[in-house]
Amino acid sequence: SILAQTPVGKAFAVNKPATKRRRASGMPYPLCTRDSGRGRAACLRPQAAPQPHGRALGAFRSESRNDTLAPAETGAASRKSATRSSALPEVRIRRKEDAMTSDVDVVILGGNIITVDPAHPRAQAIAVKFDRIVAVGQDDEVRPLMGAGTKVIDAHGMTVTPGFIDAHCHPMDAGRRSLLRVDCGPDKASTIADVKRALAERALATPPGQWLLGFGYDEAKLPEKRLLTRSELDEVTLQHPVFIEHSSGHIGMLNTPGLERGNLNRNSPDPEGGKYGRDSAGELDGCVFESGQDQFIGRGAYRGQPLIPDPTPEQDRQAVALASTLAGSLGITGWHEMLADPTILRAFQTTRAHGELHTRVSAYIYIDYLNEITGAGLQSGFGDSMLRIGGAKLLGDGALSGRTAFLWEPYAGTTDNYGVQGASAEMMEAQVLAAHKAGLQIGIHANGDRFIGMVMDAYEKAVGAYPRQDHRHRIEHCSVMTPELLARMKRLGLVAIPFGEYIYYHGEKMSSYGAKRLETMLPHRDFLDAGIPVAGSSDYPCGPWNPLVAIRSCVTRKSRAGDGIGLRQRITAEEVIRVYTLGGAYASFEEETKGSIEIGKLADFAFLSDDPTTVDTERITDISVMATMLGGKLVYEK
Ligand SMILES: [Zn+2]
Ligand SMILES: [Zn+2]
Repeated sequence: SILAQTPVGKAFAVNKPATKRRRASGMPYPLCTRDSGRGRAACLRPQAAPQPHGRALGAFRSESRNDTLAPAETGAASRKSATRSSALPEVRIRRKEDAMTSDVDVVILGGNIITVDPAHPRAQAIAVKFDRIVAVGQDDEVRPLMGAGTKVIDAHGMTVTPGFIDAHCHPMDAGRRSLLRVDCGPDKASTIADVKRALAERALATPPGQWLLGFGYDEAKLPEKRLLTRSELDEVTLQHPVFIEHSSGHIGMLNTPGLERGNLNRNSPDPEGGKYGRDSAGELDGCVFESGQDQFIGRGAYRGQPLIPDPTPEQDRQAVALASTLAGSLGITGWHEMLADPTILRAFQTTRAHGELHTRVSAYIYIDYLNEITGAGLQSGFGDSMLRIGGAKLLGDGALSGRTAFLWEPYAGTTDNYGVQGASAEMMEAQVLAAHKAGLQIGIHANGDRFIGMVMDAYEKAVGAYPRQDHRHRIEHCSVMTPELLARMKRLGLVAIPFGEYIYYHGEKMSSYGAKRLETMLPHRDFLDAGIPVAGSSDYPCGPWNPLVAIRSCVTRKSRAGDGIGLRQRITAEEVIRVYTLGGAYASFEEETKGSIEIGKLADFAFLSDDPTTVDTERITDISVMATMLGGKLVYEK
């Protein structure tokens, strides 16, 4: 029915009691009062959100009549609702005929709207009908569209952008980690002693024999500057096997019971495509690199039951819901899930069926499932605007932040370290050919210049054998670039998906690439100048998800320590916003419906406390996401 398709009024009405409670307590209250269970409420709060500041927020707060983003009621609807009990959310029942009238459902007024539409770059007001934008313009142009049933949001000068699209991230992974593992990252633990303490605490609450898991460990951000050792983890517990995942995803750290679960000892030969760390006496030191992790986490070529048991379907649903809530708090309305498998696809569908998926997903499915994808006749674009198949994903060389990207010239300060190739050219070319022939868009992980060249070889051969207009095959990360690769990329019509936030967040690791390579590494300026389509991506959880960190990173090209890295590659905040919205939409063939604030597109917006294009560049990361709208409904409110 029409009613079922247009829950806009209902979504807004639900805000009313939340608003009242917020006033009473002076504390922010989660938007979704229907799910006010303890865990749910907690996860609706933004995590580690920066302190709000700035002109827009000041204006926003000074309005005592309406101290939240909850829309101002108009006319009859307001009078009617005033008589209702405040204990229950108001649900405005609409007749089908009402829904078909020309009144718009939602109007946003008084915004500083960055449209990402070159014909009309700035606007004040937006009108939404159902889940689509029906008008964009000045307040006085949009006001006449309002009717008695229209919900009005006064943006109070806040900056409104299209919802951010993260074109390469791993939301399912991220949600699972937050739900089931100990955060060993620098924001939670600033020394190895902190990491051990956090793990020991969790060990007390974990039945003996069960895995104790950690994630986010990053030695470069700790004073000790080294990986965890087996003996340190043995000190934490010998009652549990321990597995700590490095923030790059390329290294695991185990204690002795963990190594024993994997039947690993000093006589174990290094696996193909990986390595076991050893001390000077040849004993395993507990670190497993690349494919050395596979039997534990069930990744890569490993096809057996992973030693670390998979989460249950119920846990997976909670994990996706948690990730979606977090994304909403960051203004993210679109994900490209870049390593989807049947479990992940199932979890997205279940979460959506539960009404807990508030982020649009394009899923790129791991190439190992190519036969299943093509056998079912699925092609890129299958699905709808909420959940669809993006294409096929191939893995490749090592990690940029792990300094294992596959290079032509050795790493700075070494004579023979070229990184890790990861995948063979023959295998990759065969897989690319098959996926391309099947009509799928393809994304391949490639960091180093040498591997990027191999990826281009594979794409060139496939497109040569089966010419296809507008294939938009992608190079994920596309980190270490050269002028030659850039020209070739343009010629082949490939899409670049570089890390947005890495220069800022992982800047301290970049010196190993040497000054010359840094000039053209993650070359946002070069991509844009060459006319190569480029999308924004975090590879979260390998780096922070927050698009504002990416905006700061791309605008300043400065590390957290303030060191400039490849400054020639700076782009403007306006350009980063475009990359993180329309760029992402283009990268999944969705630029007709997503990525900018234009009539006919989906009503997905981020409301920001300040304007990233005008604030001091060092303060971009202080901007708060005040609200996020998806398809005309507020899915997050600070
Ligand atoms: Zn990758
Ligand atoms: Zn990735």
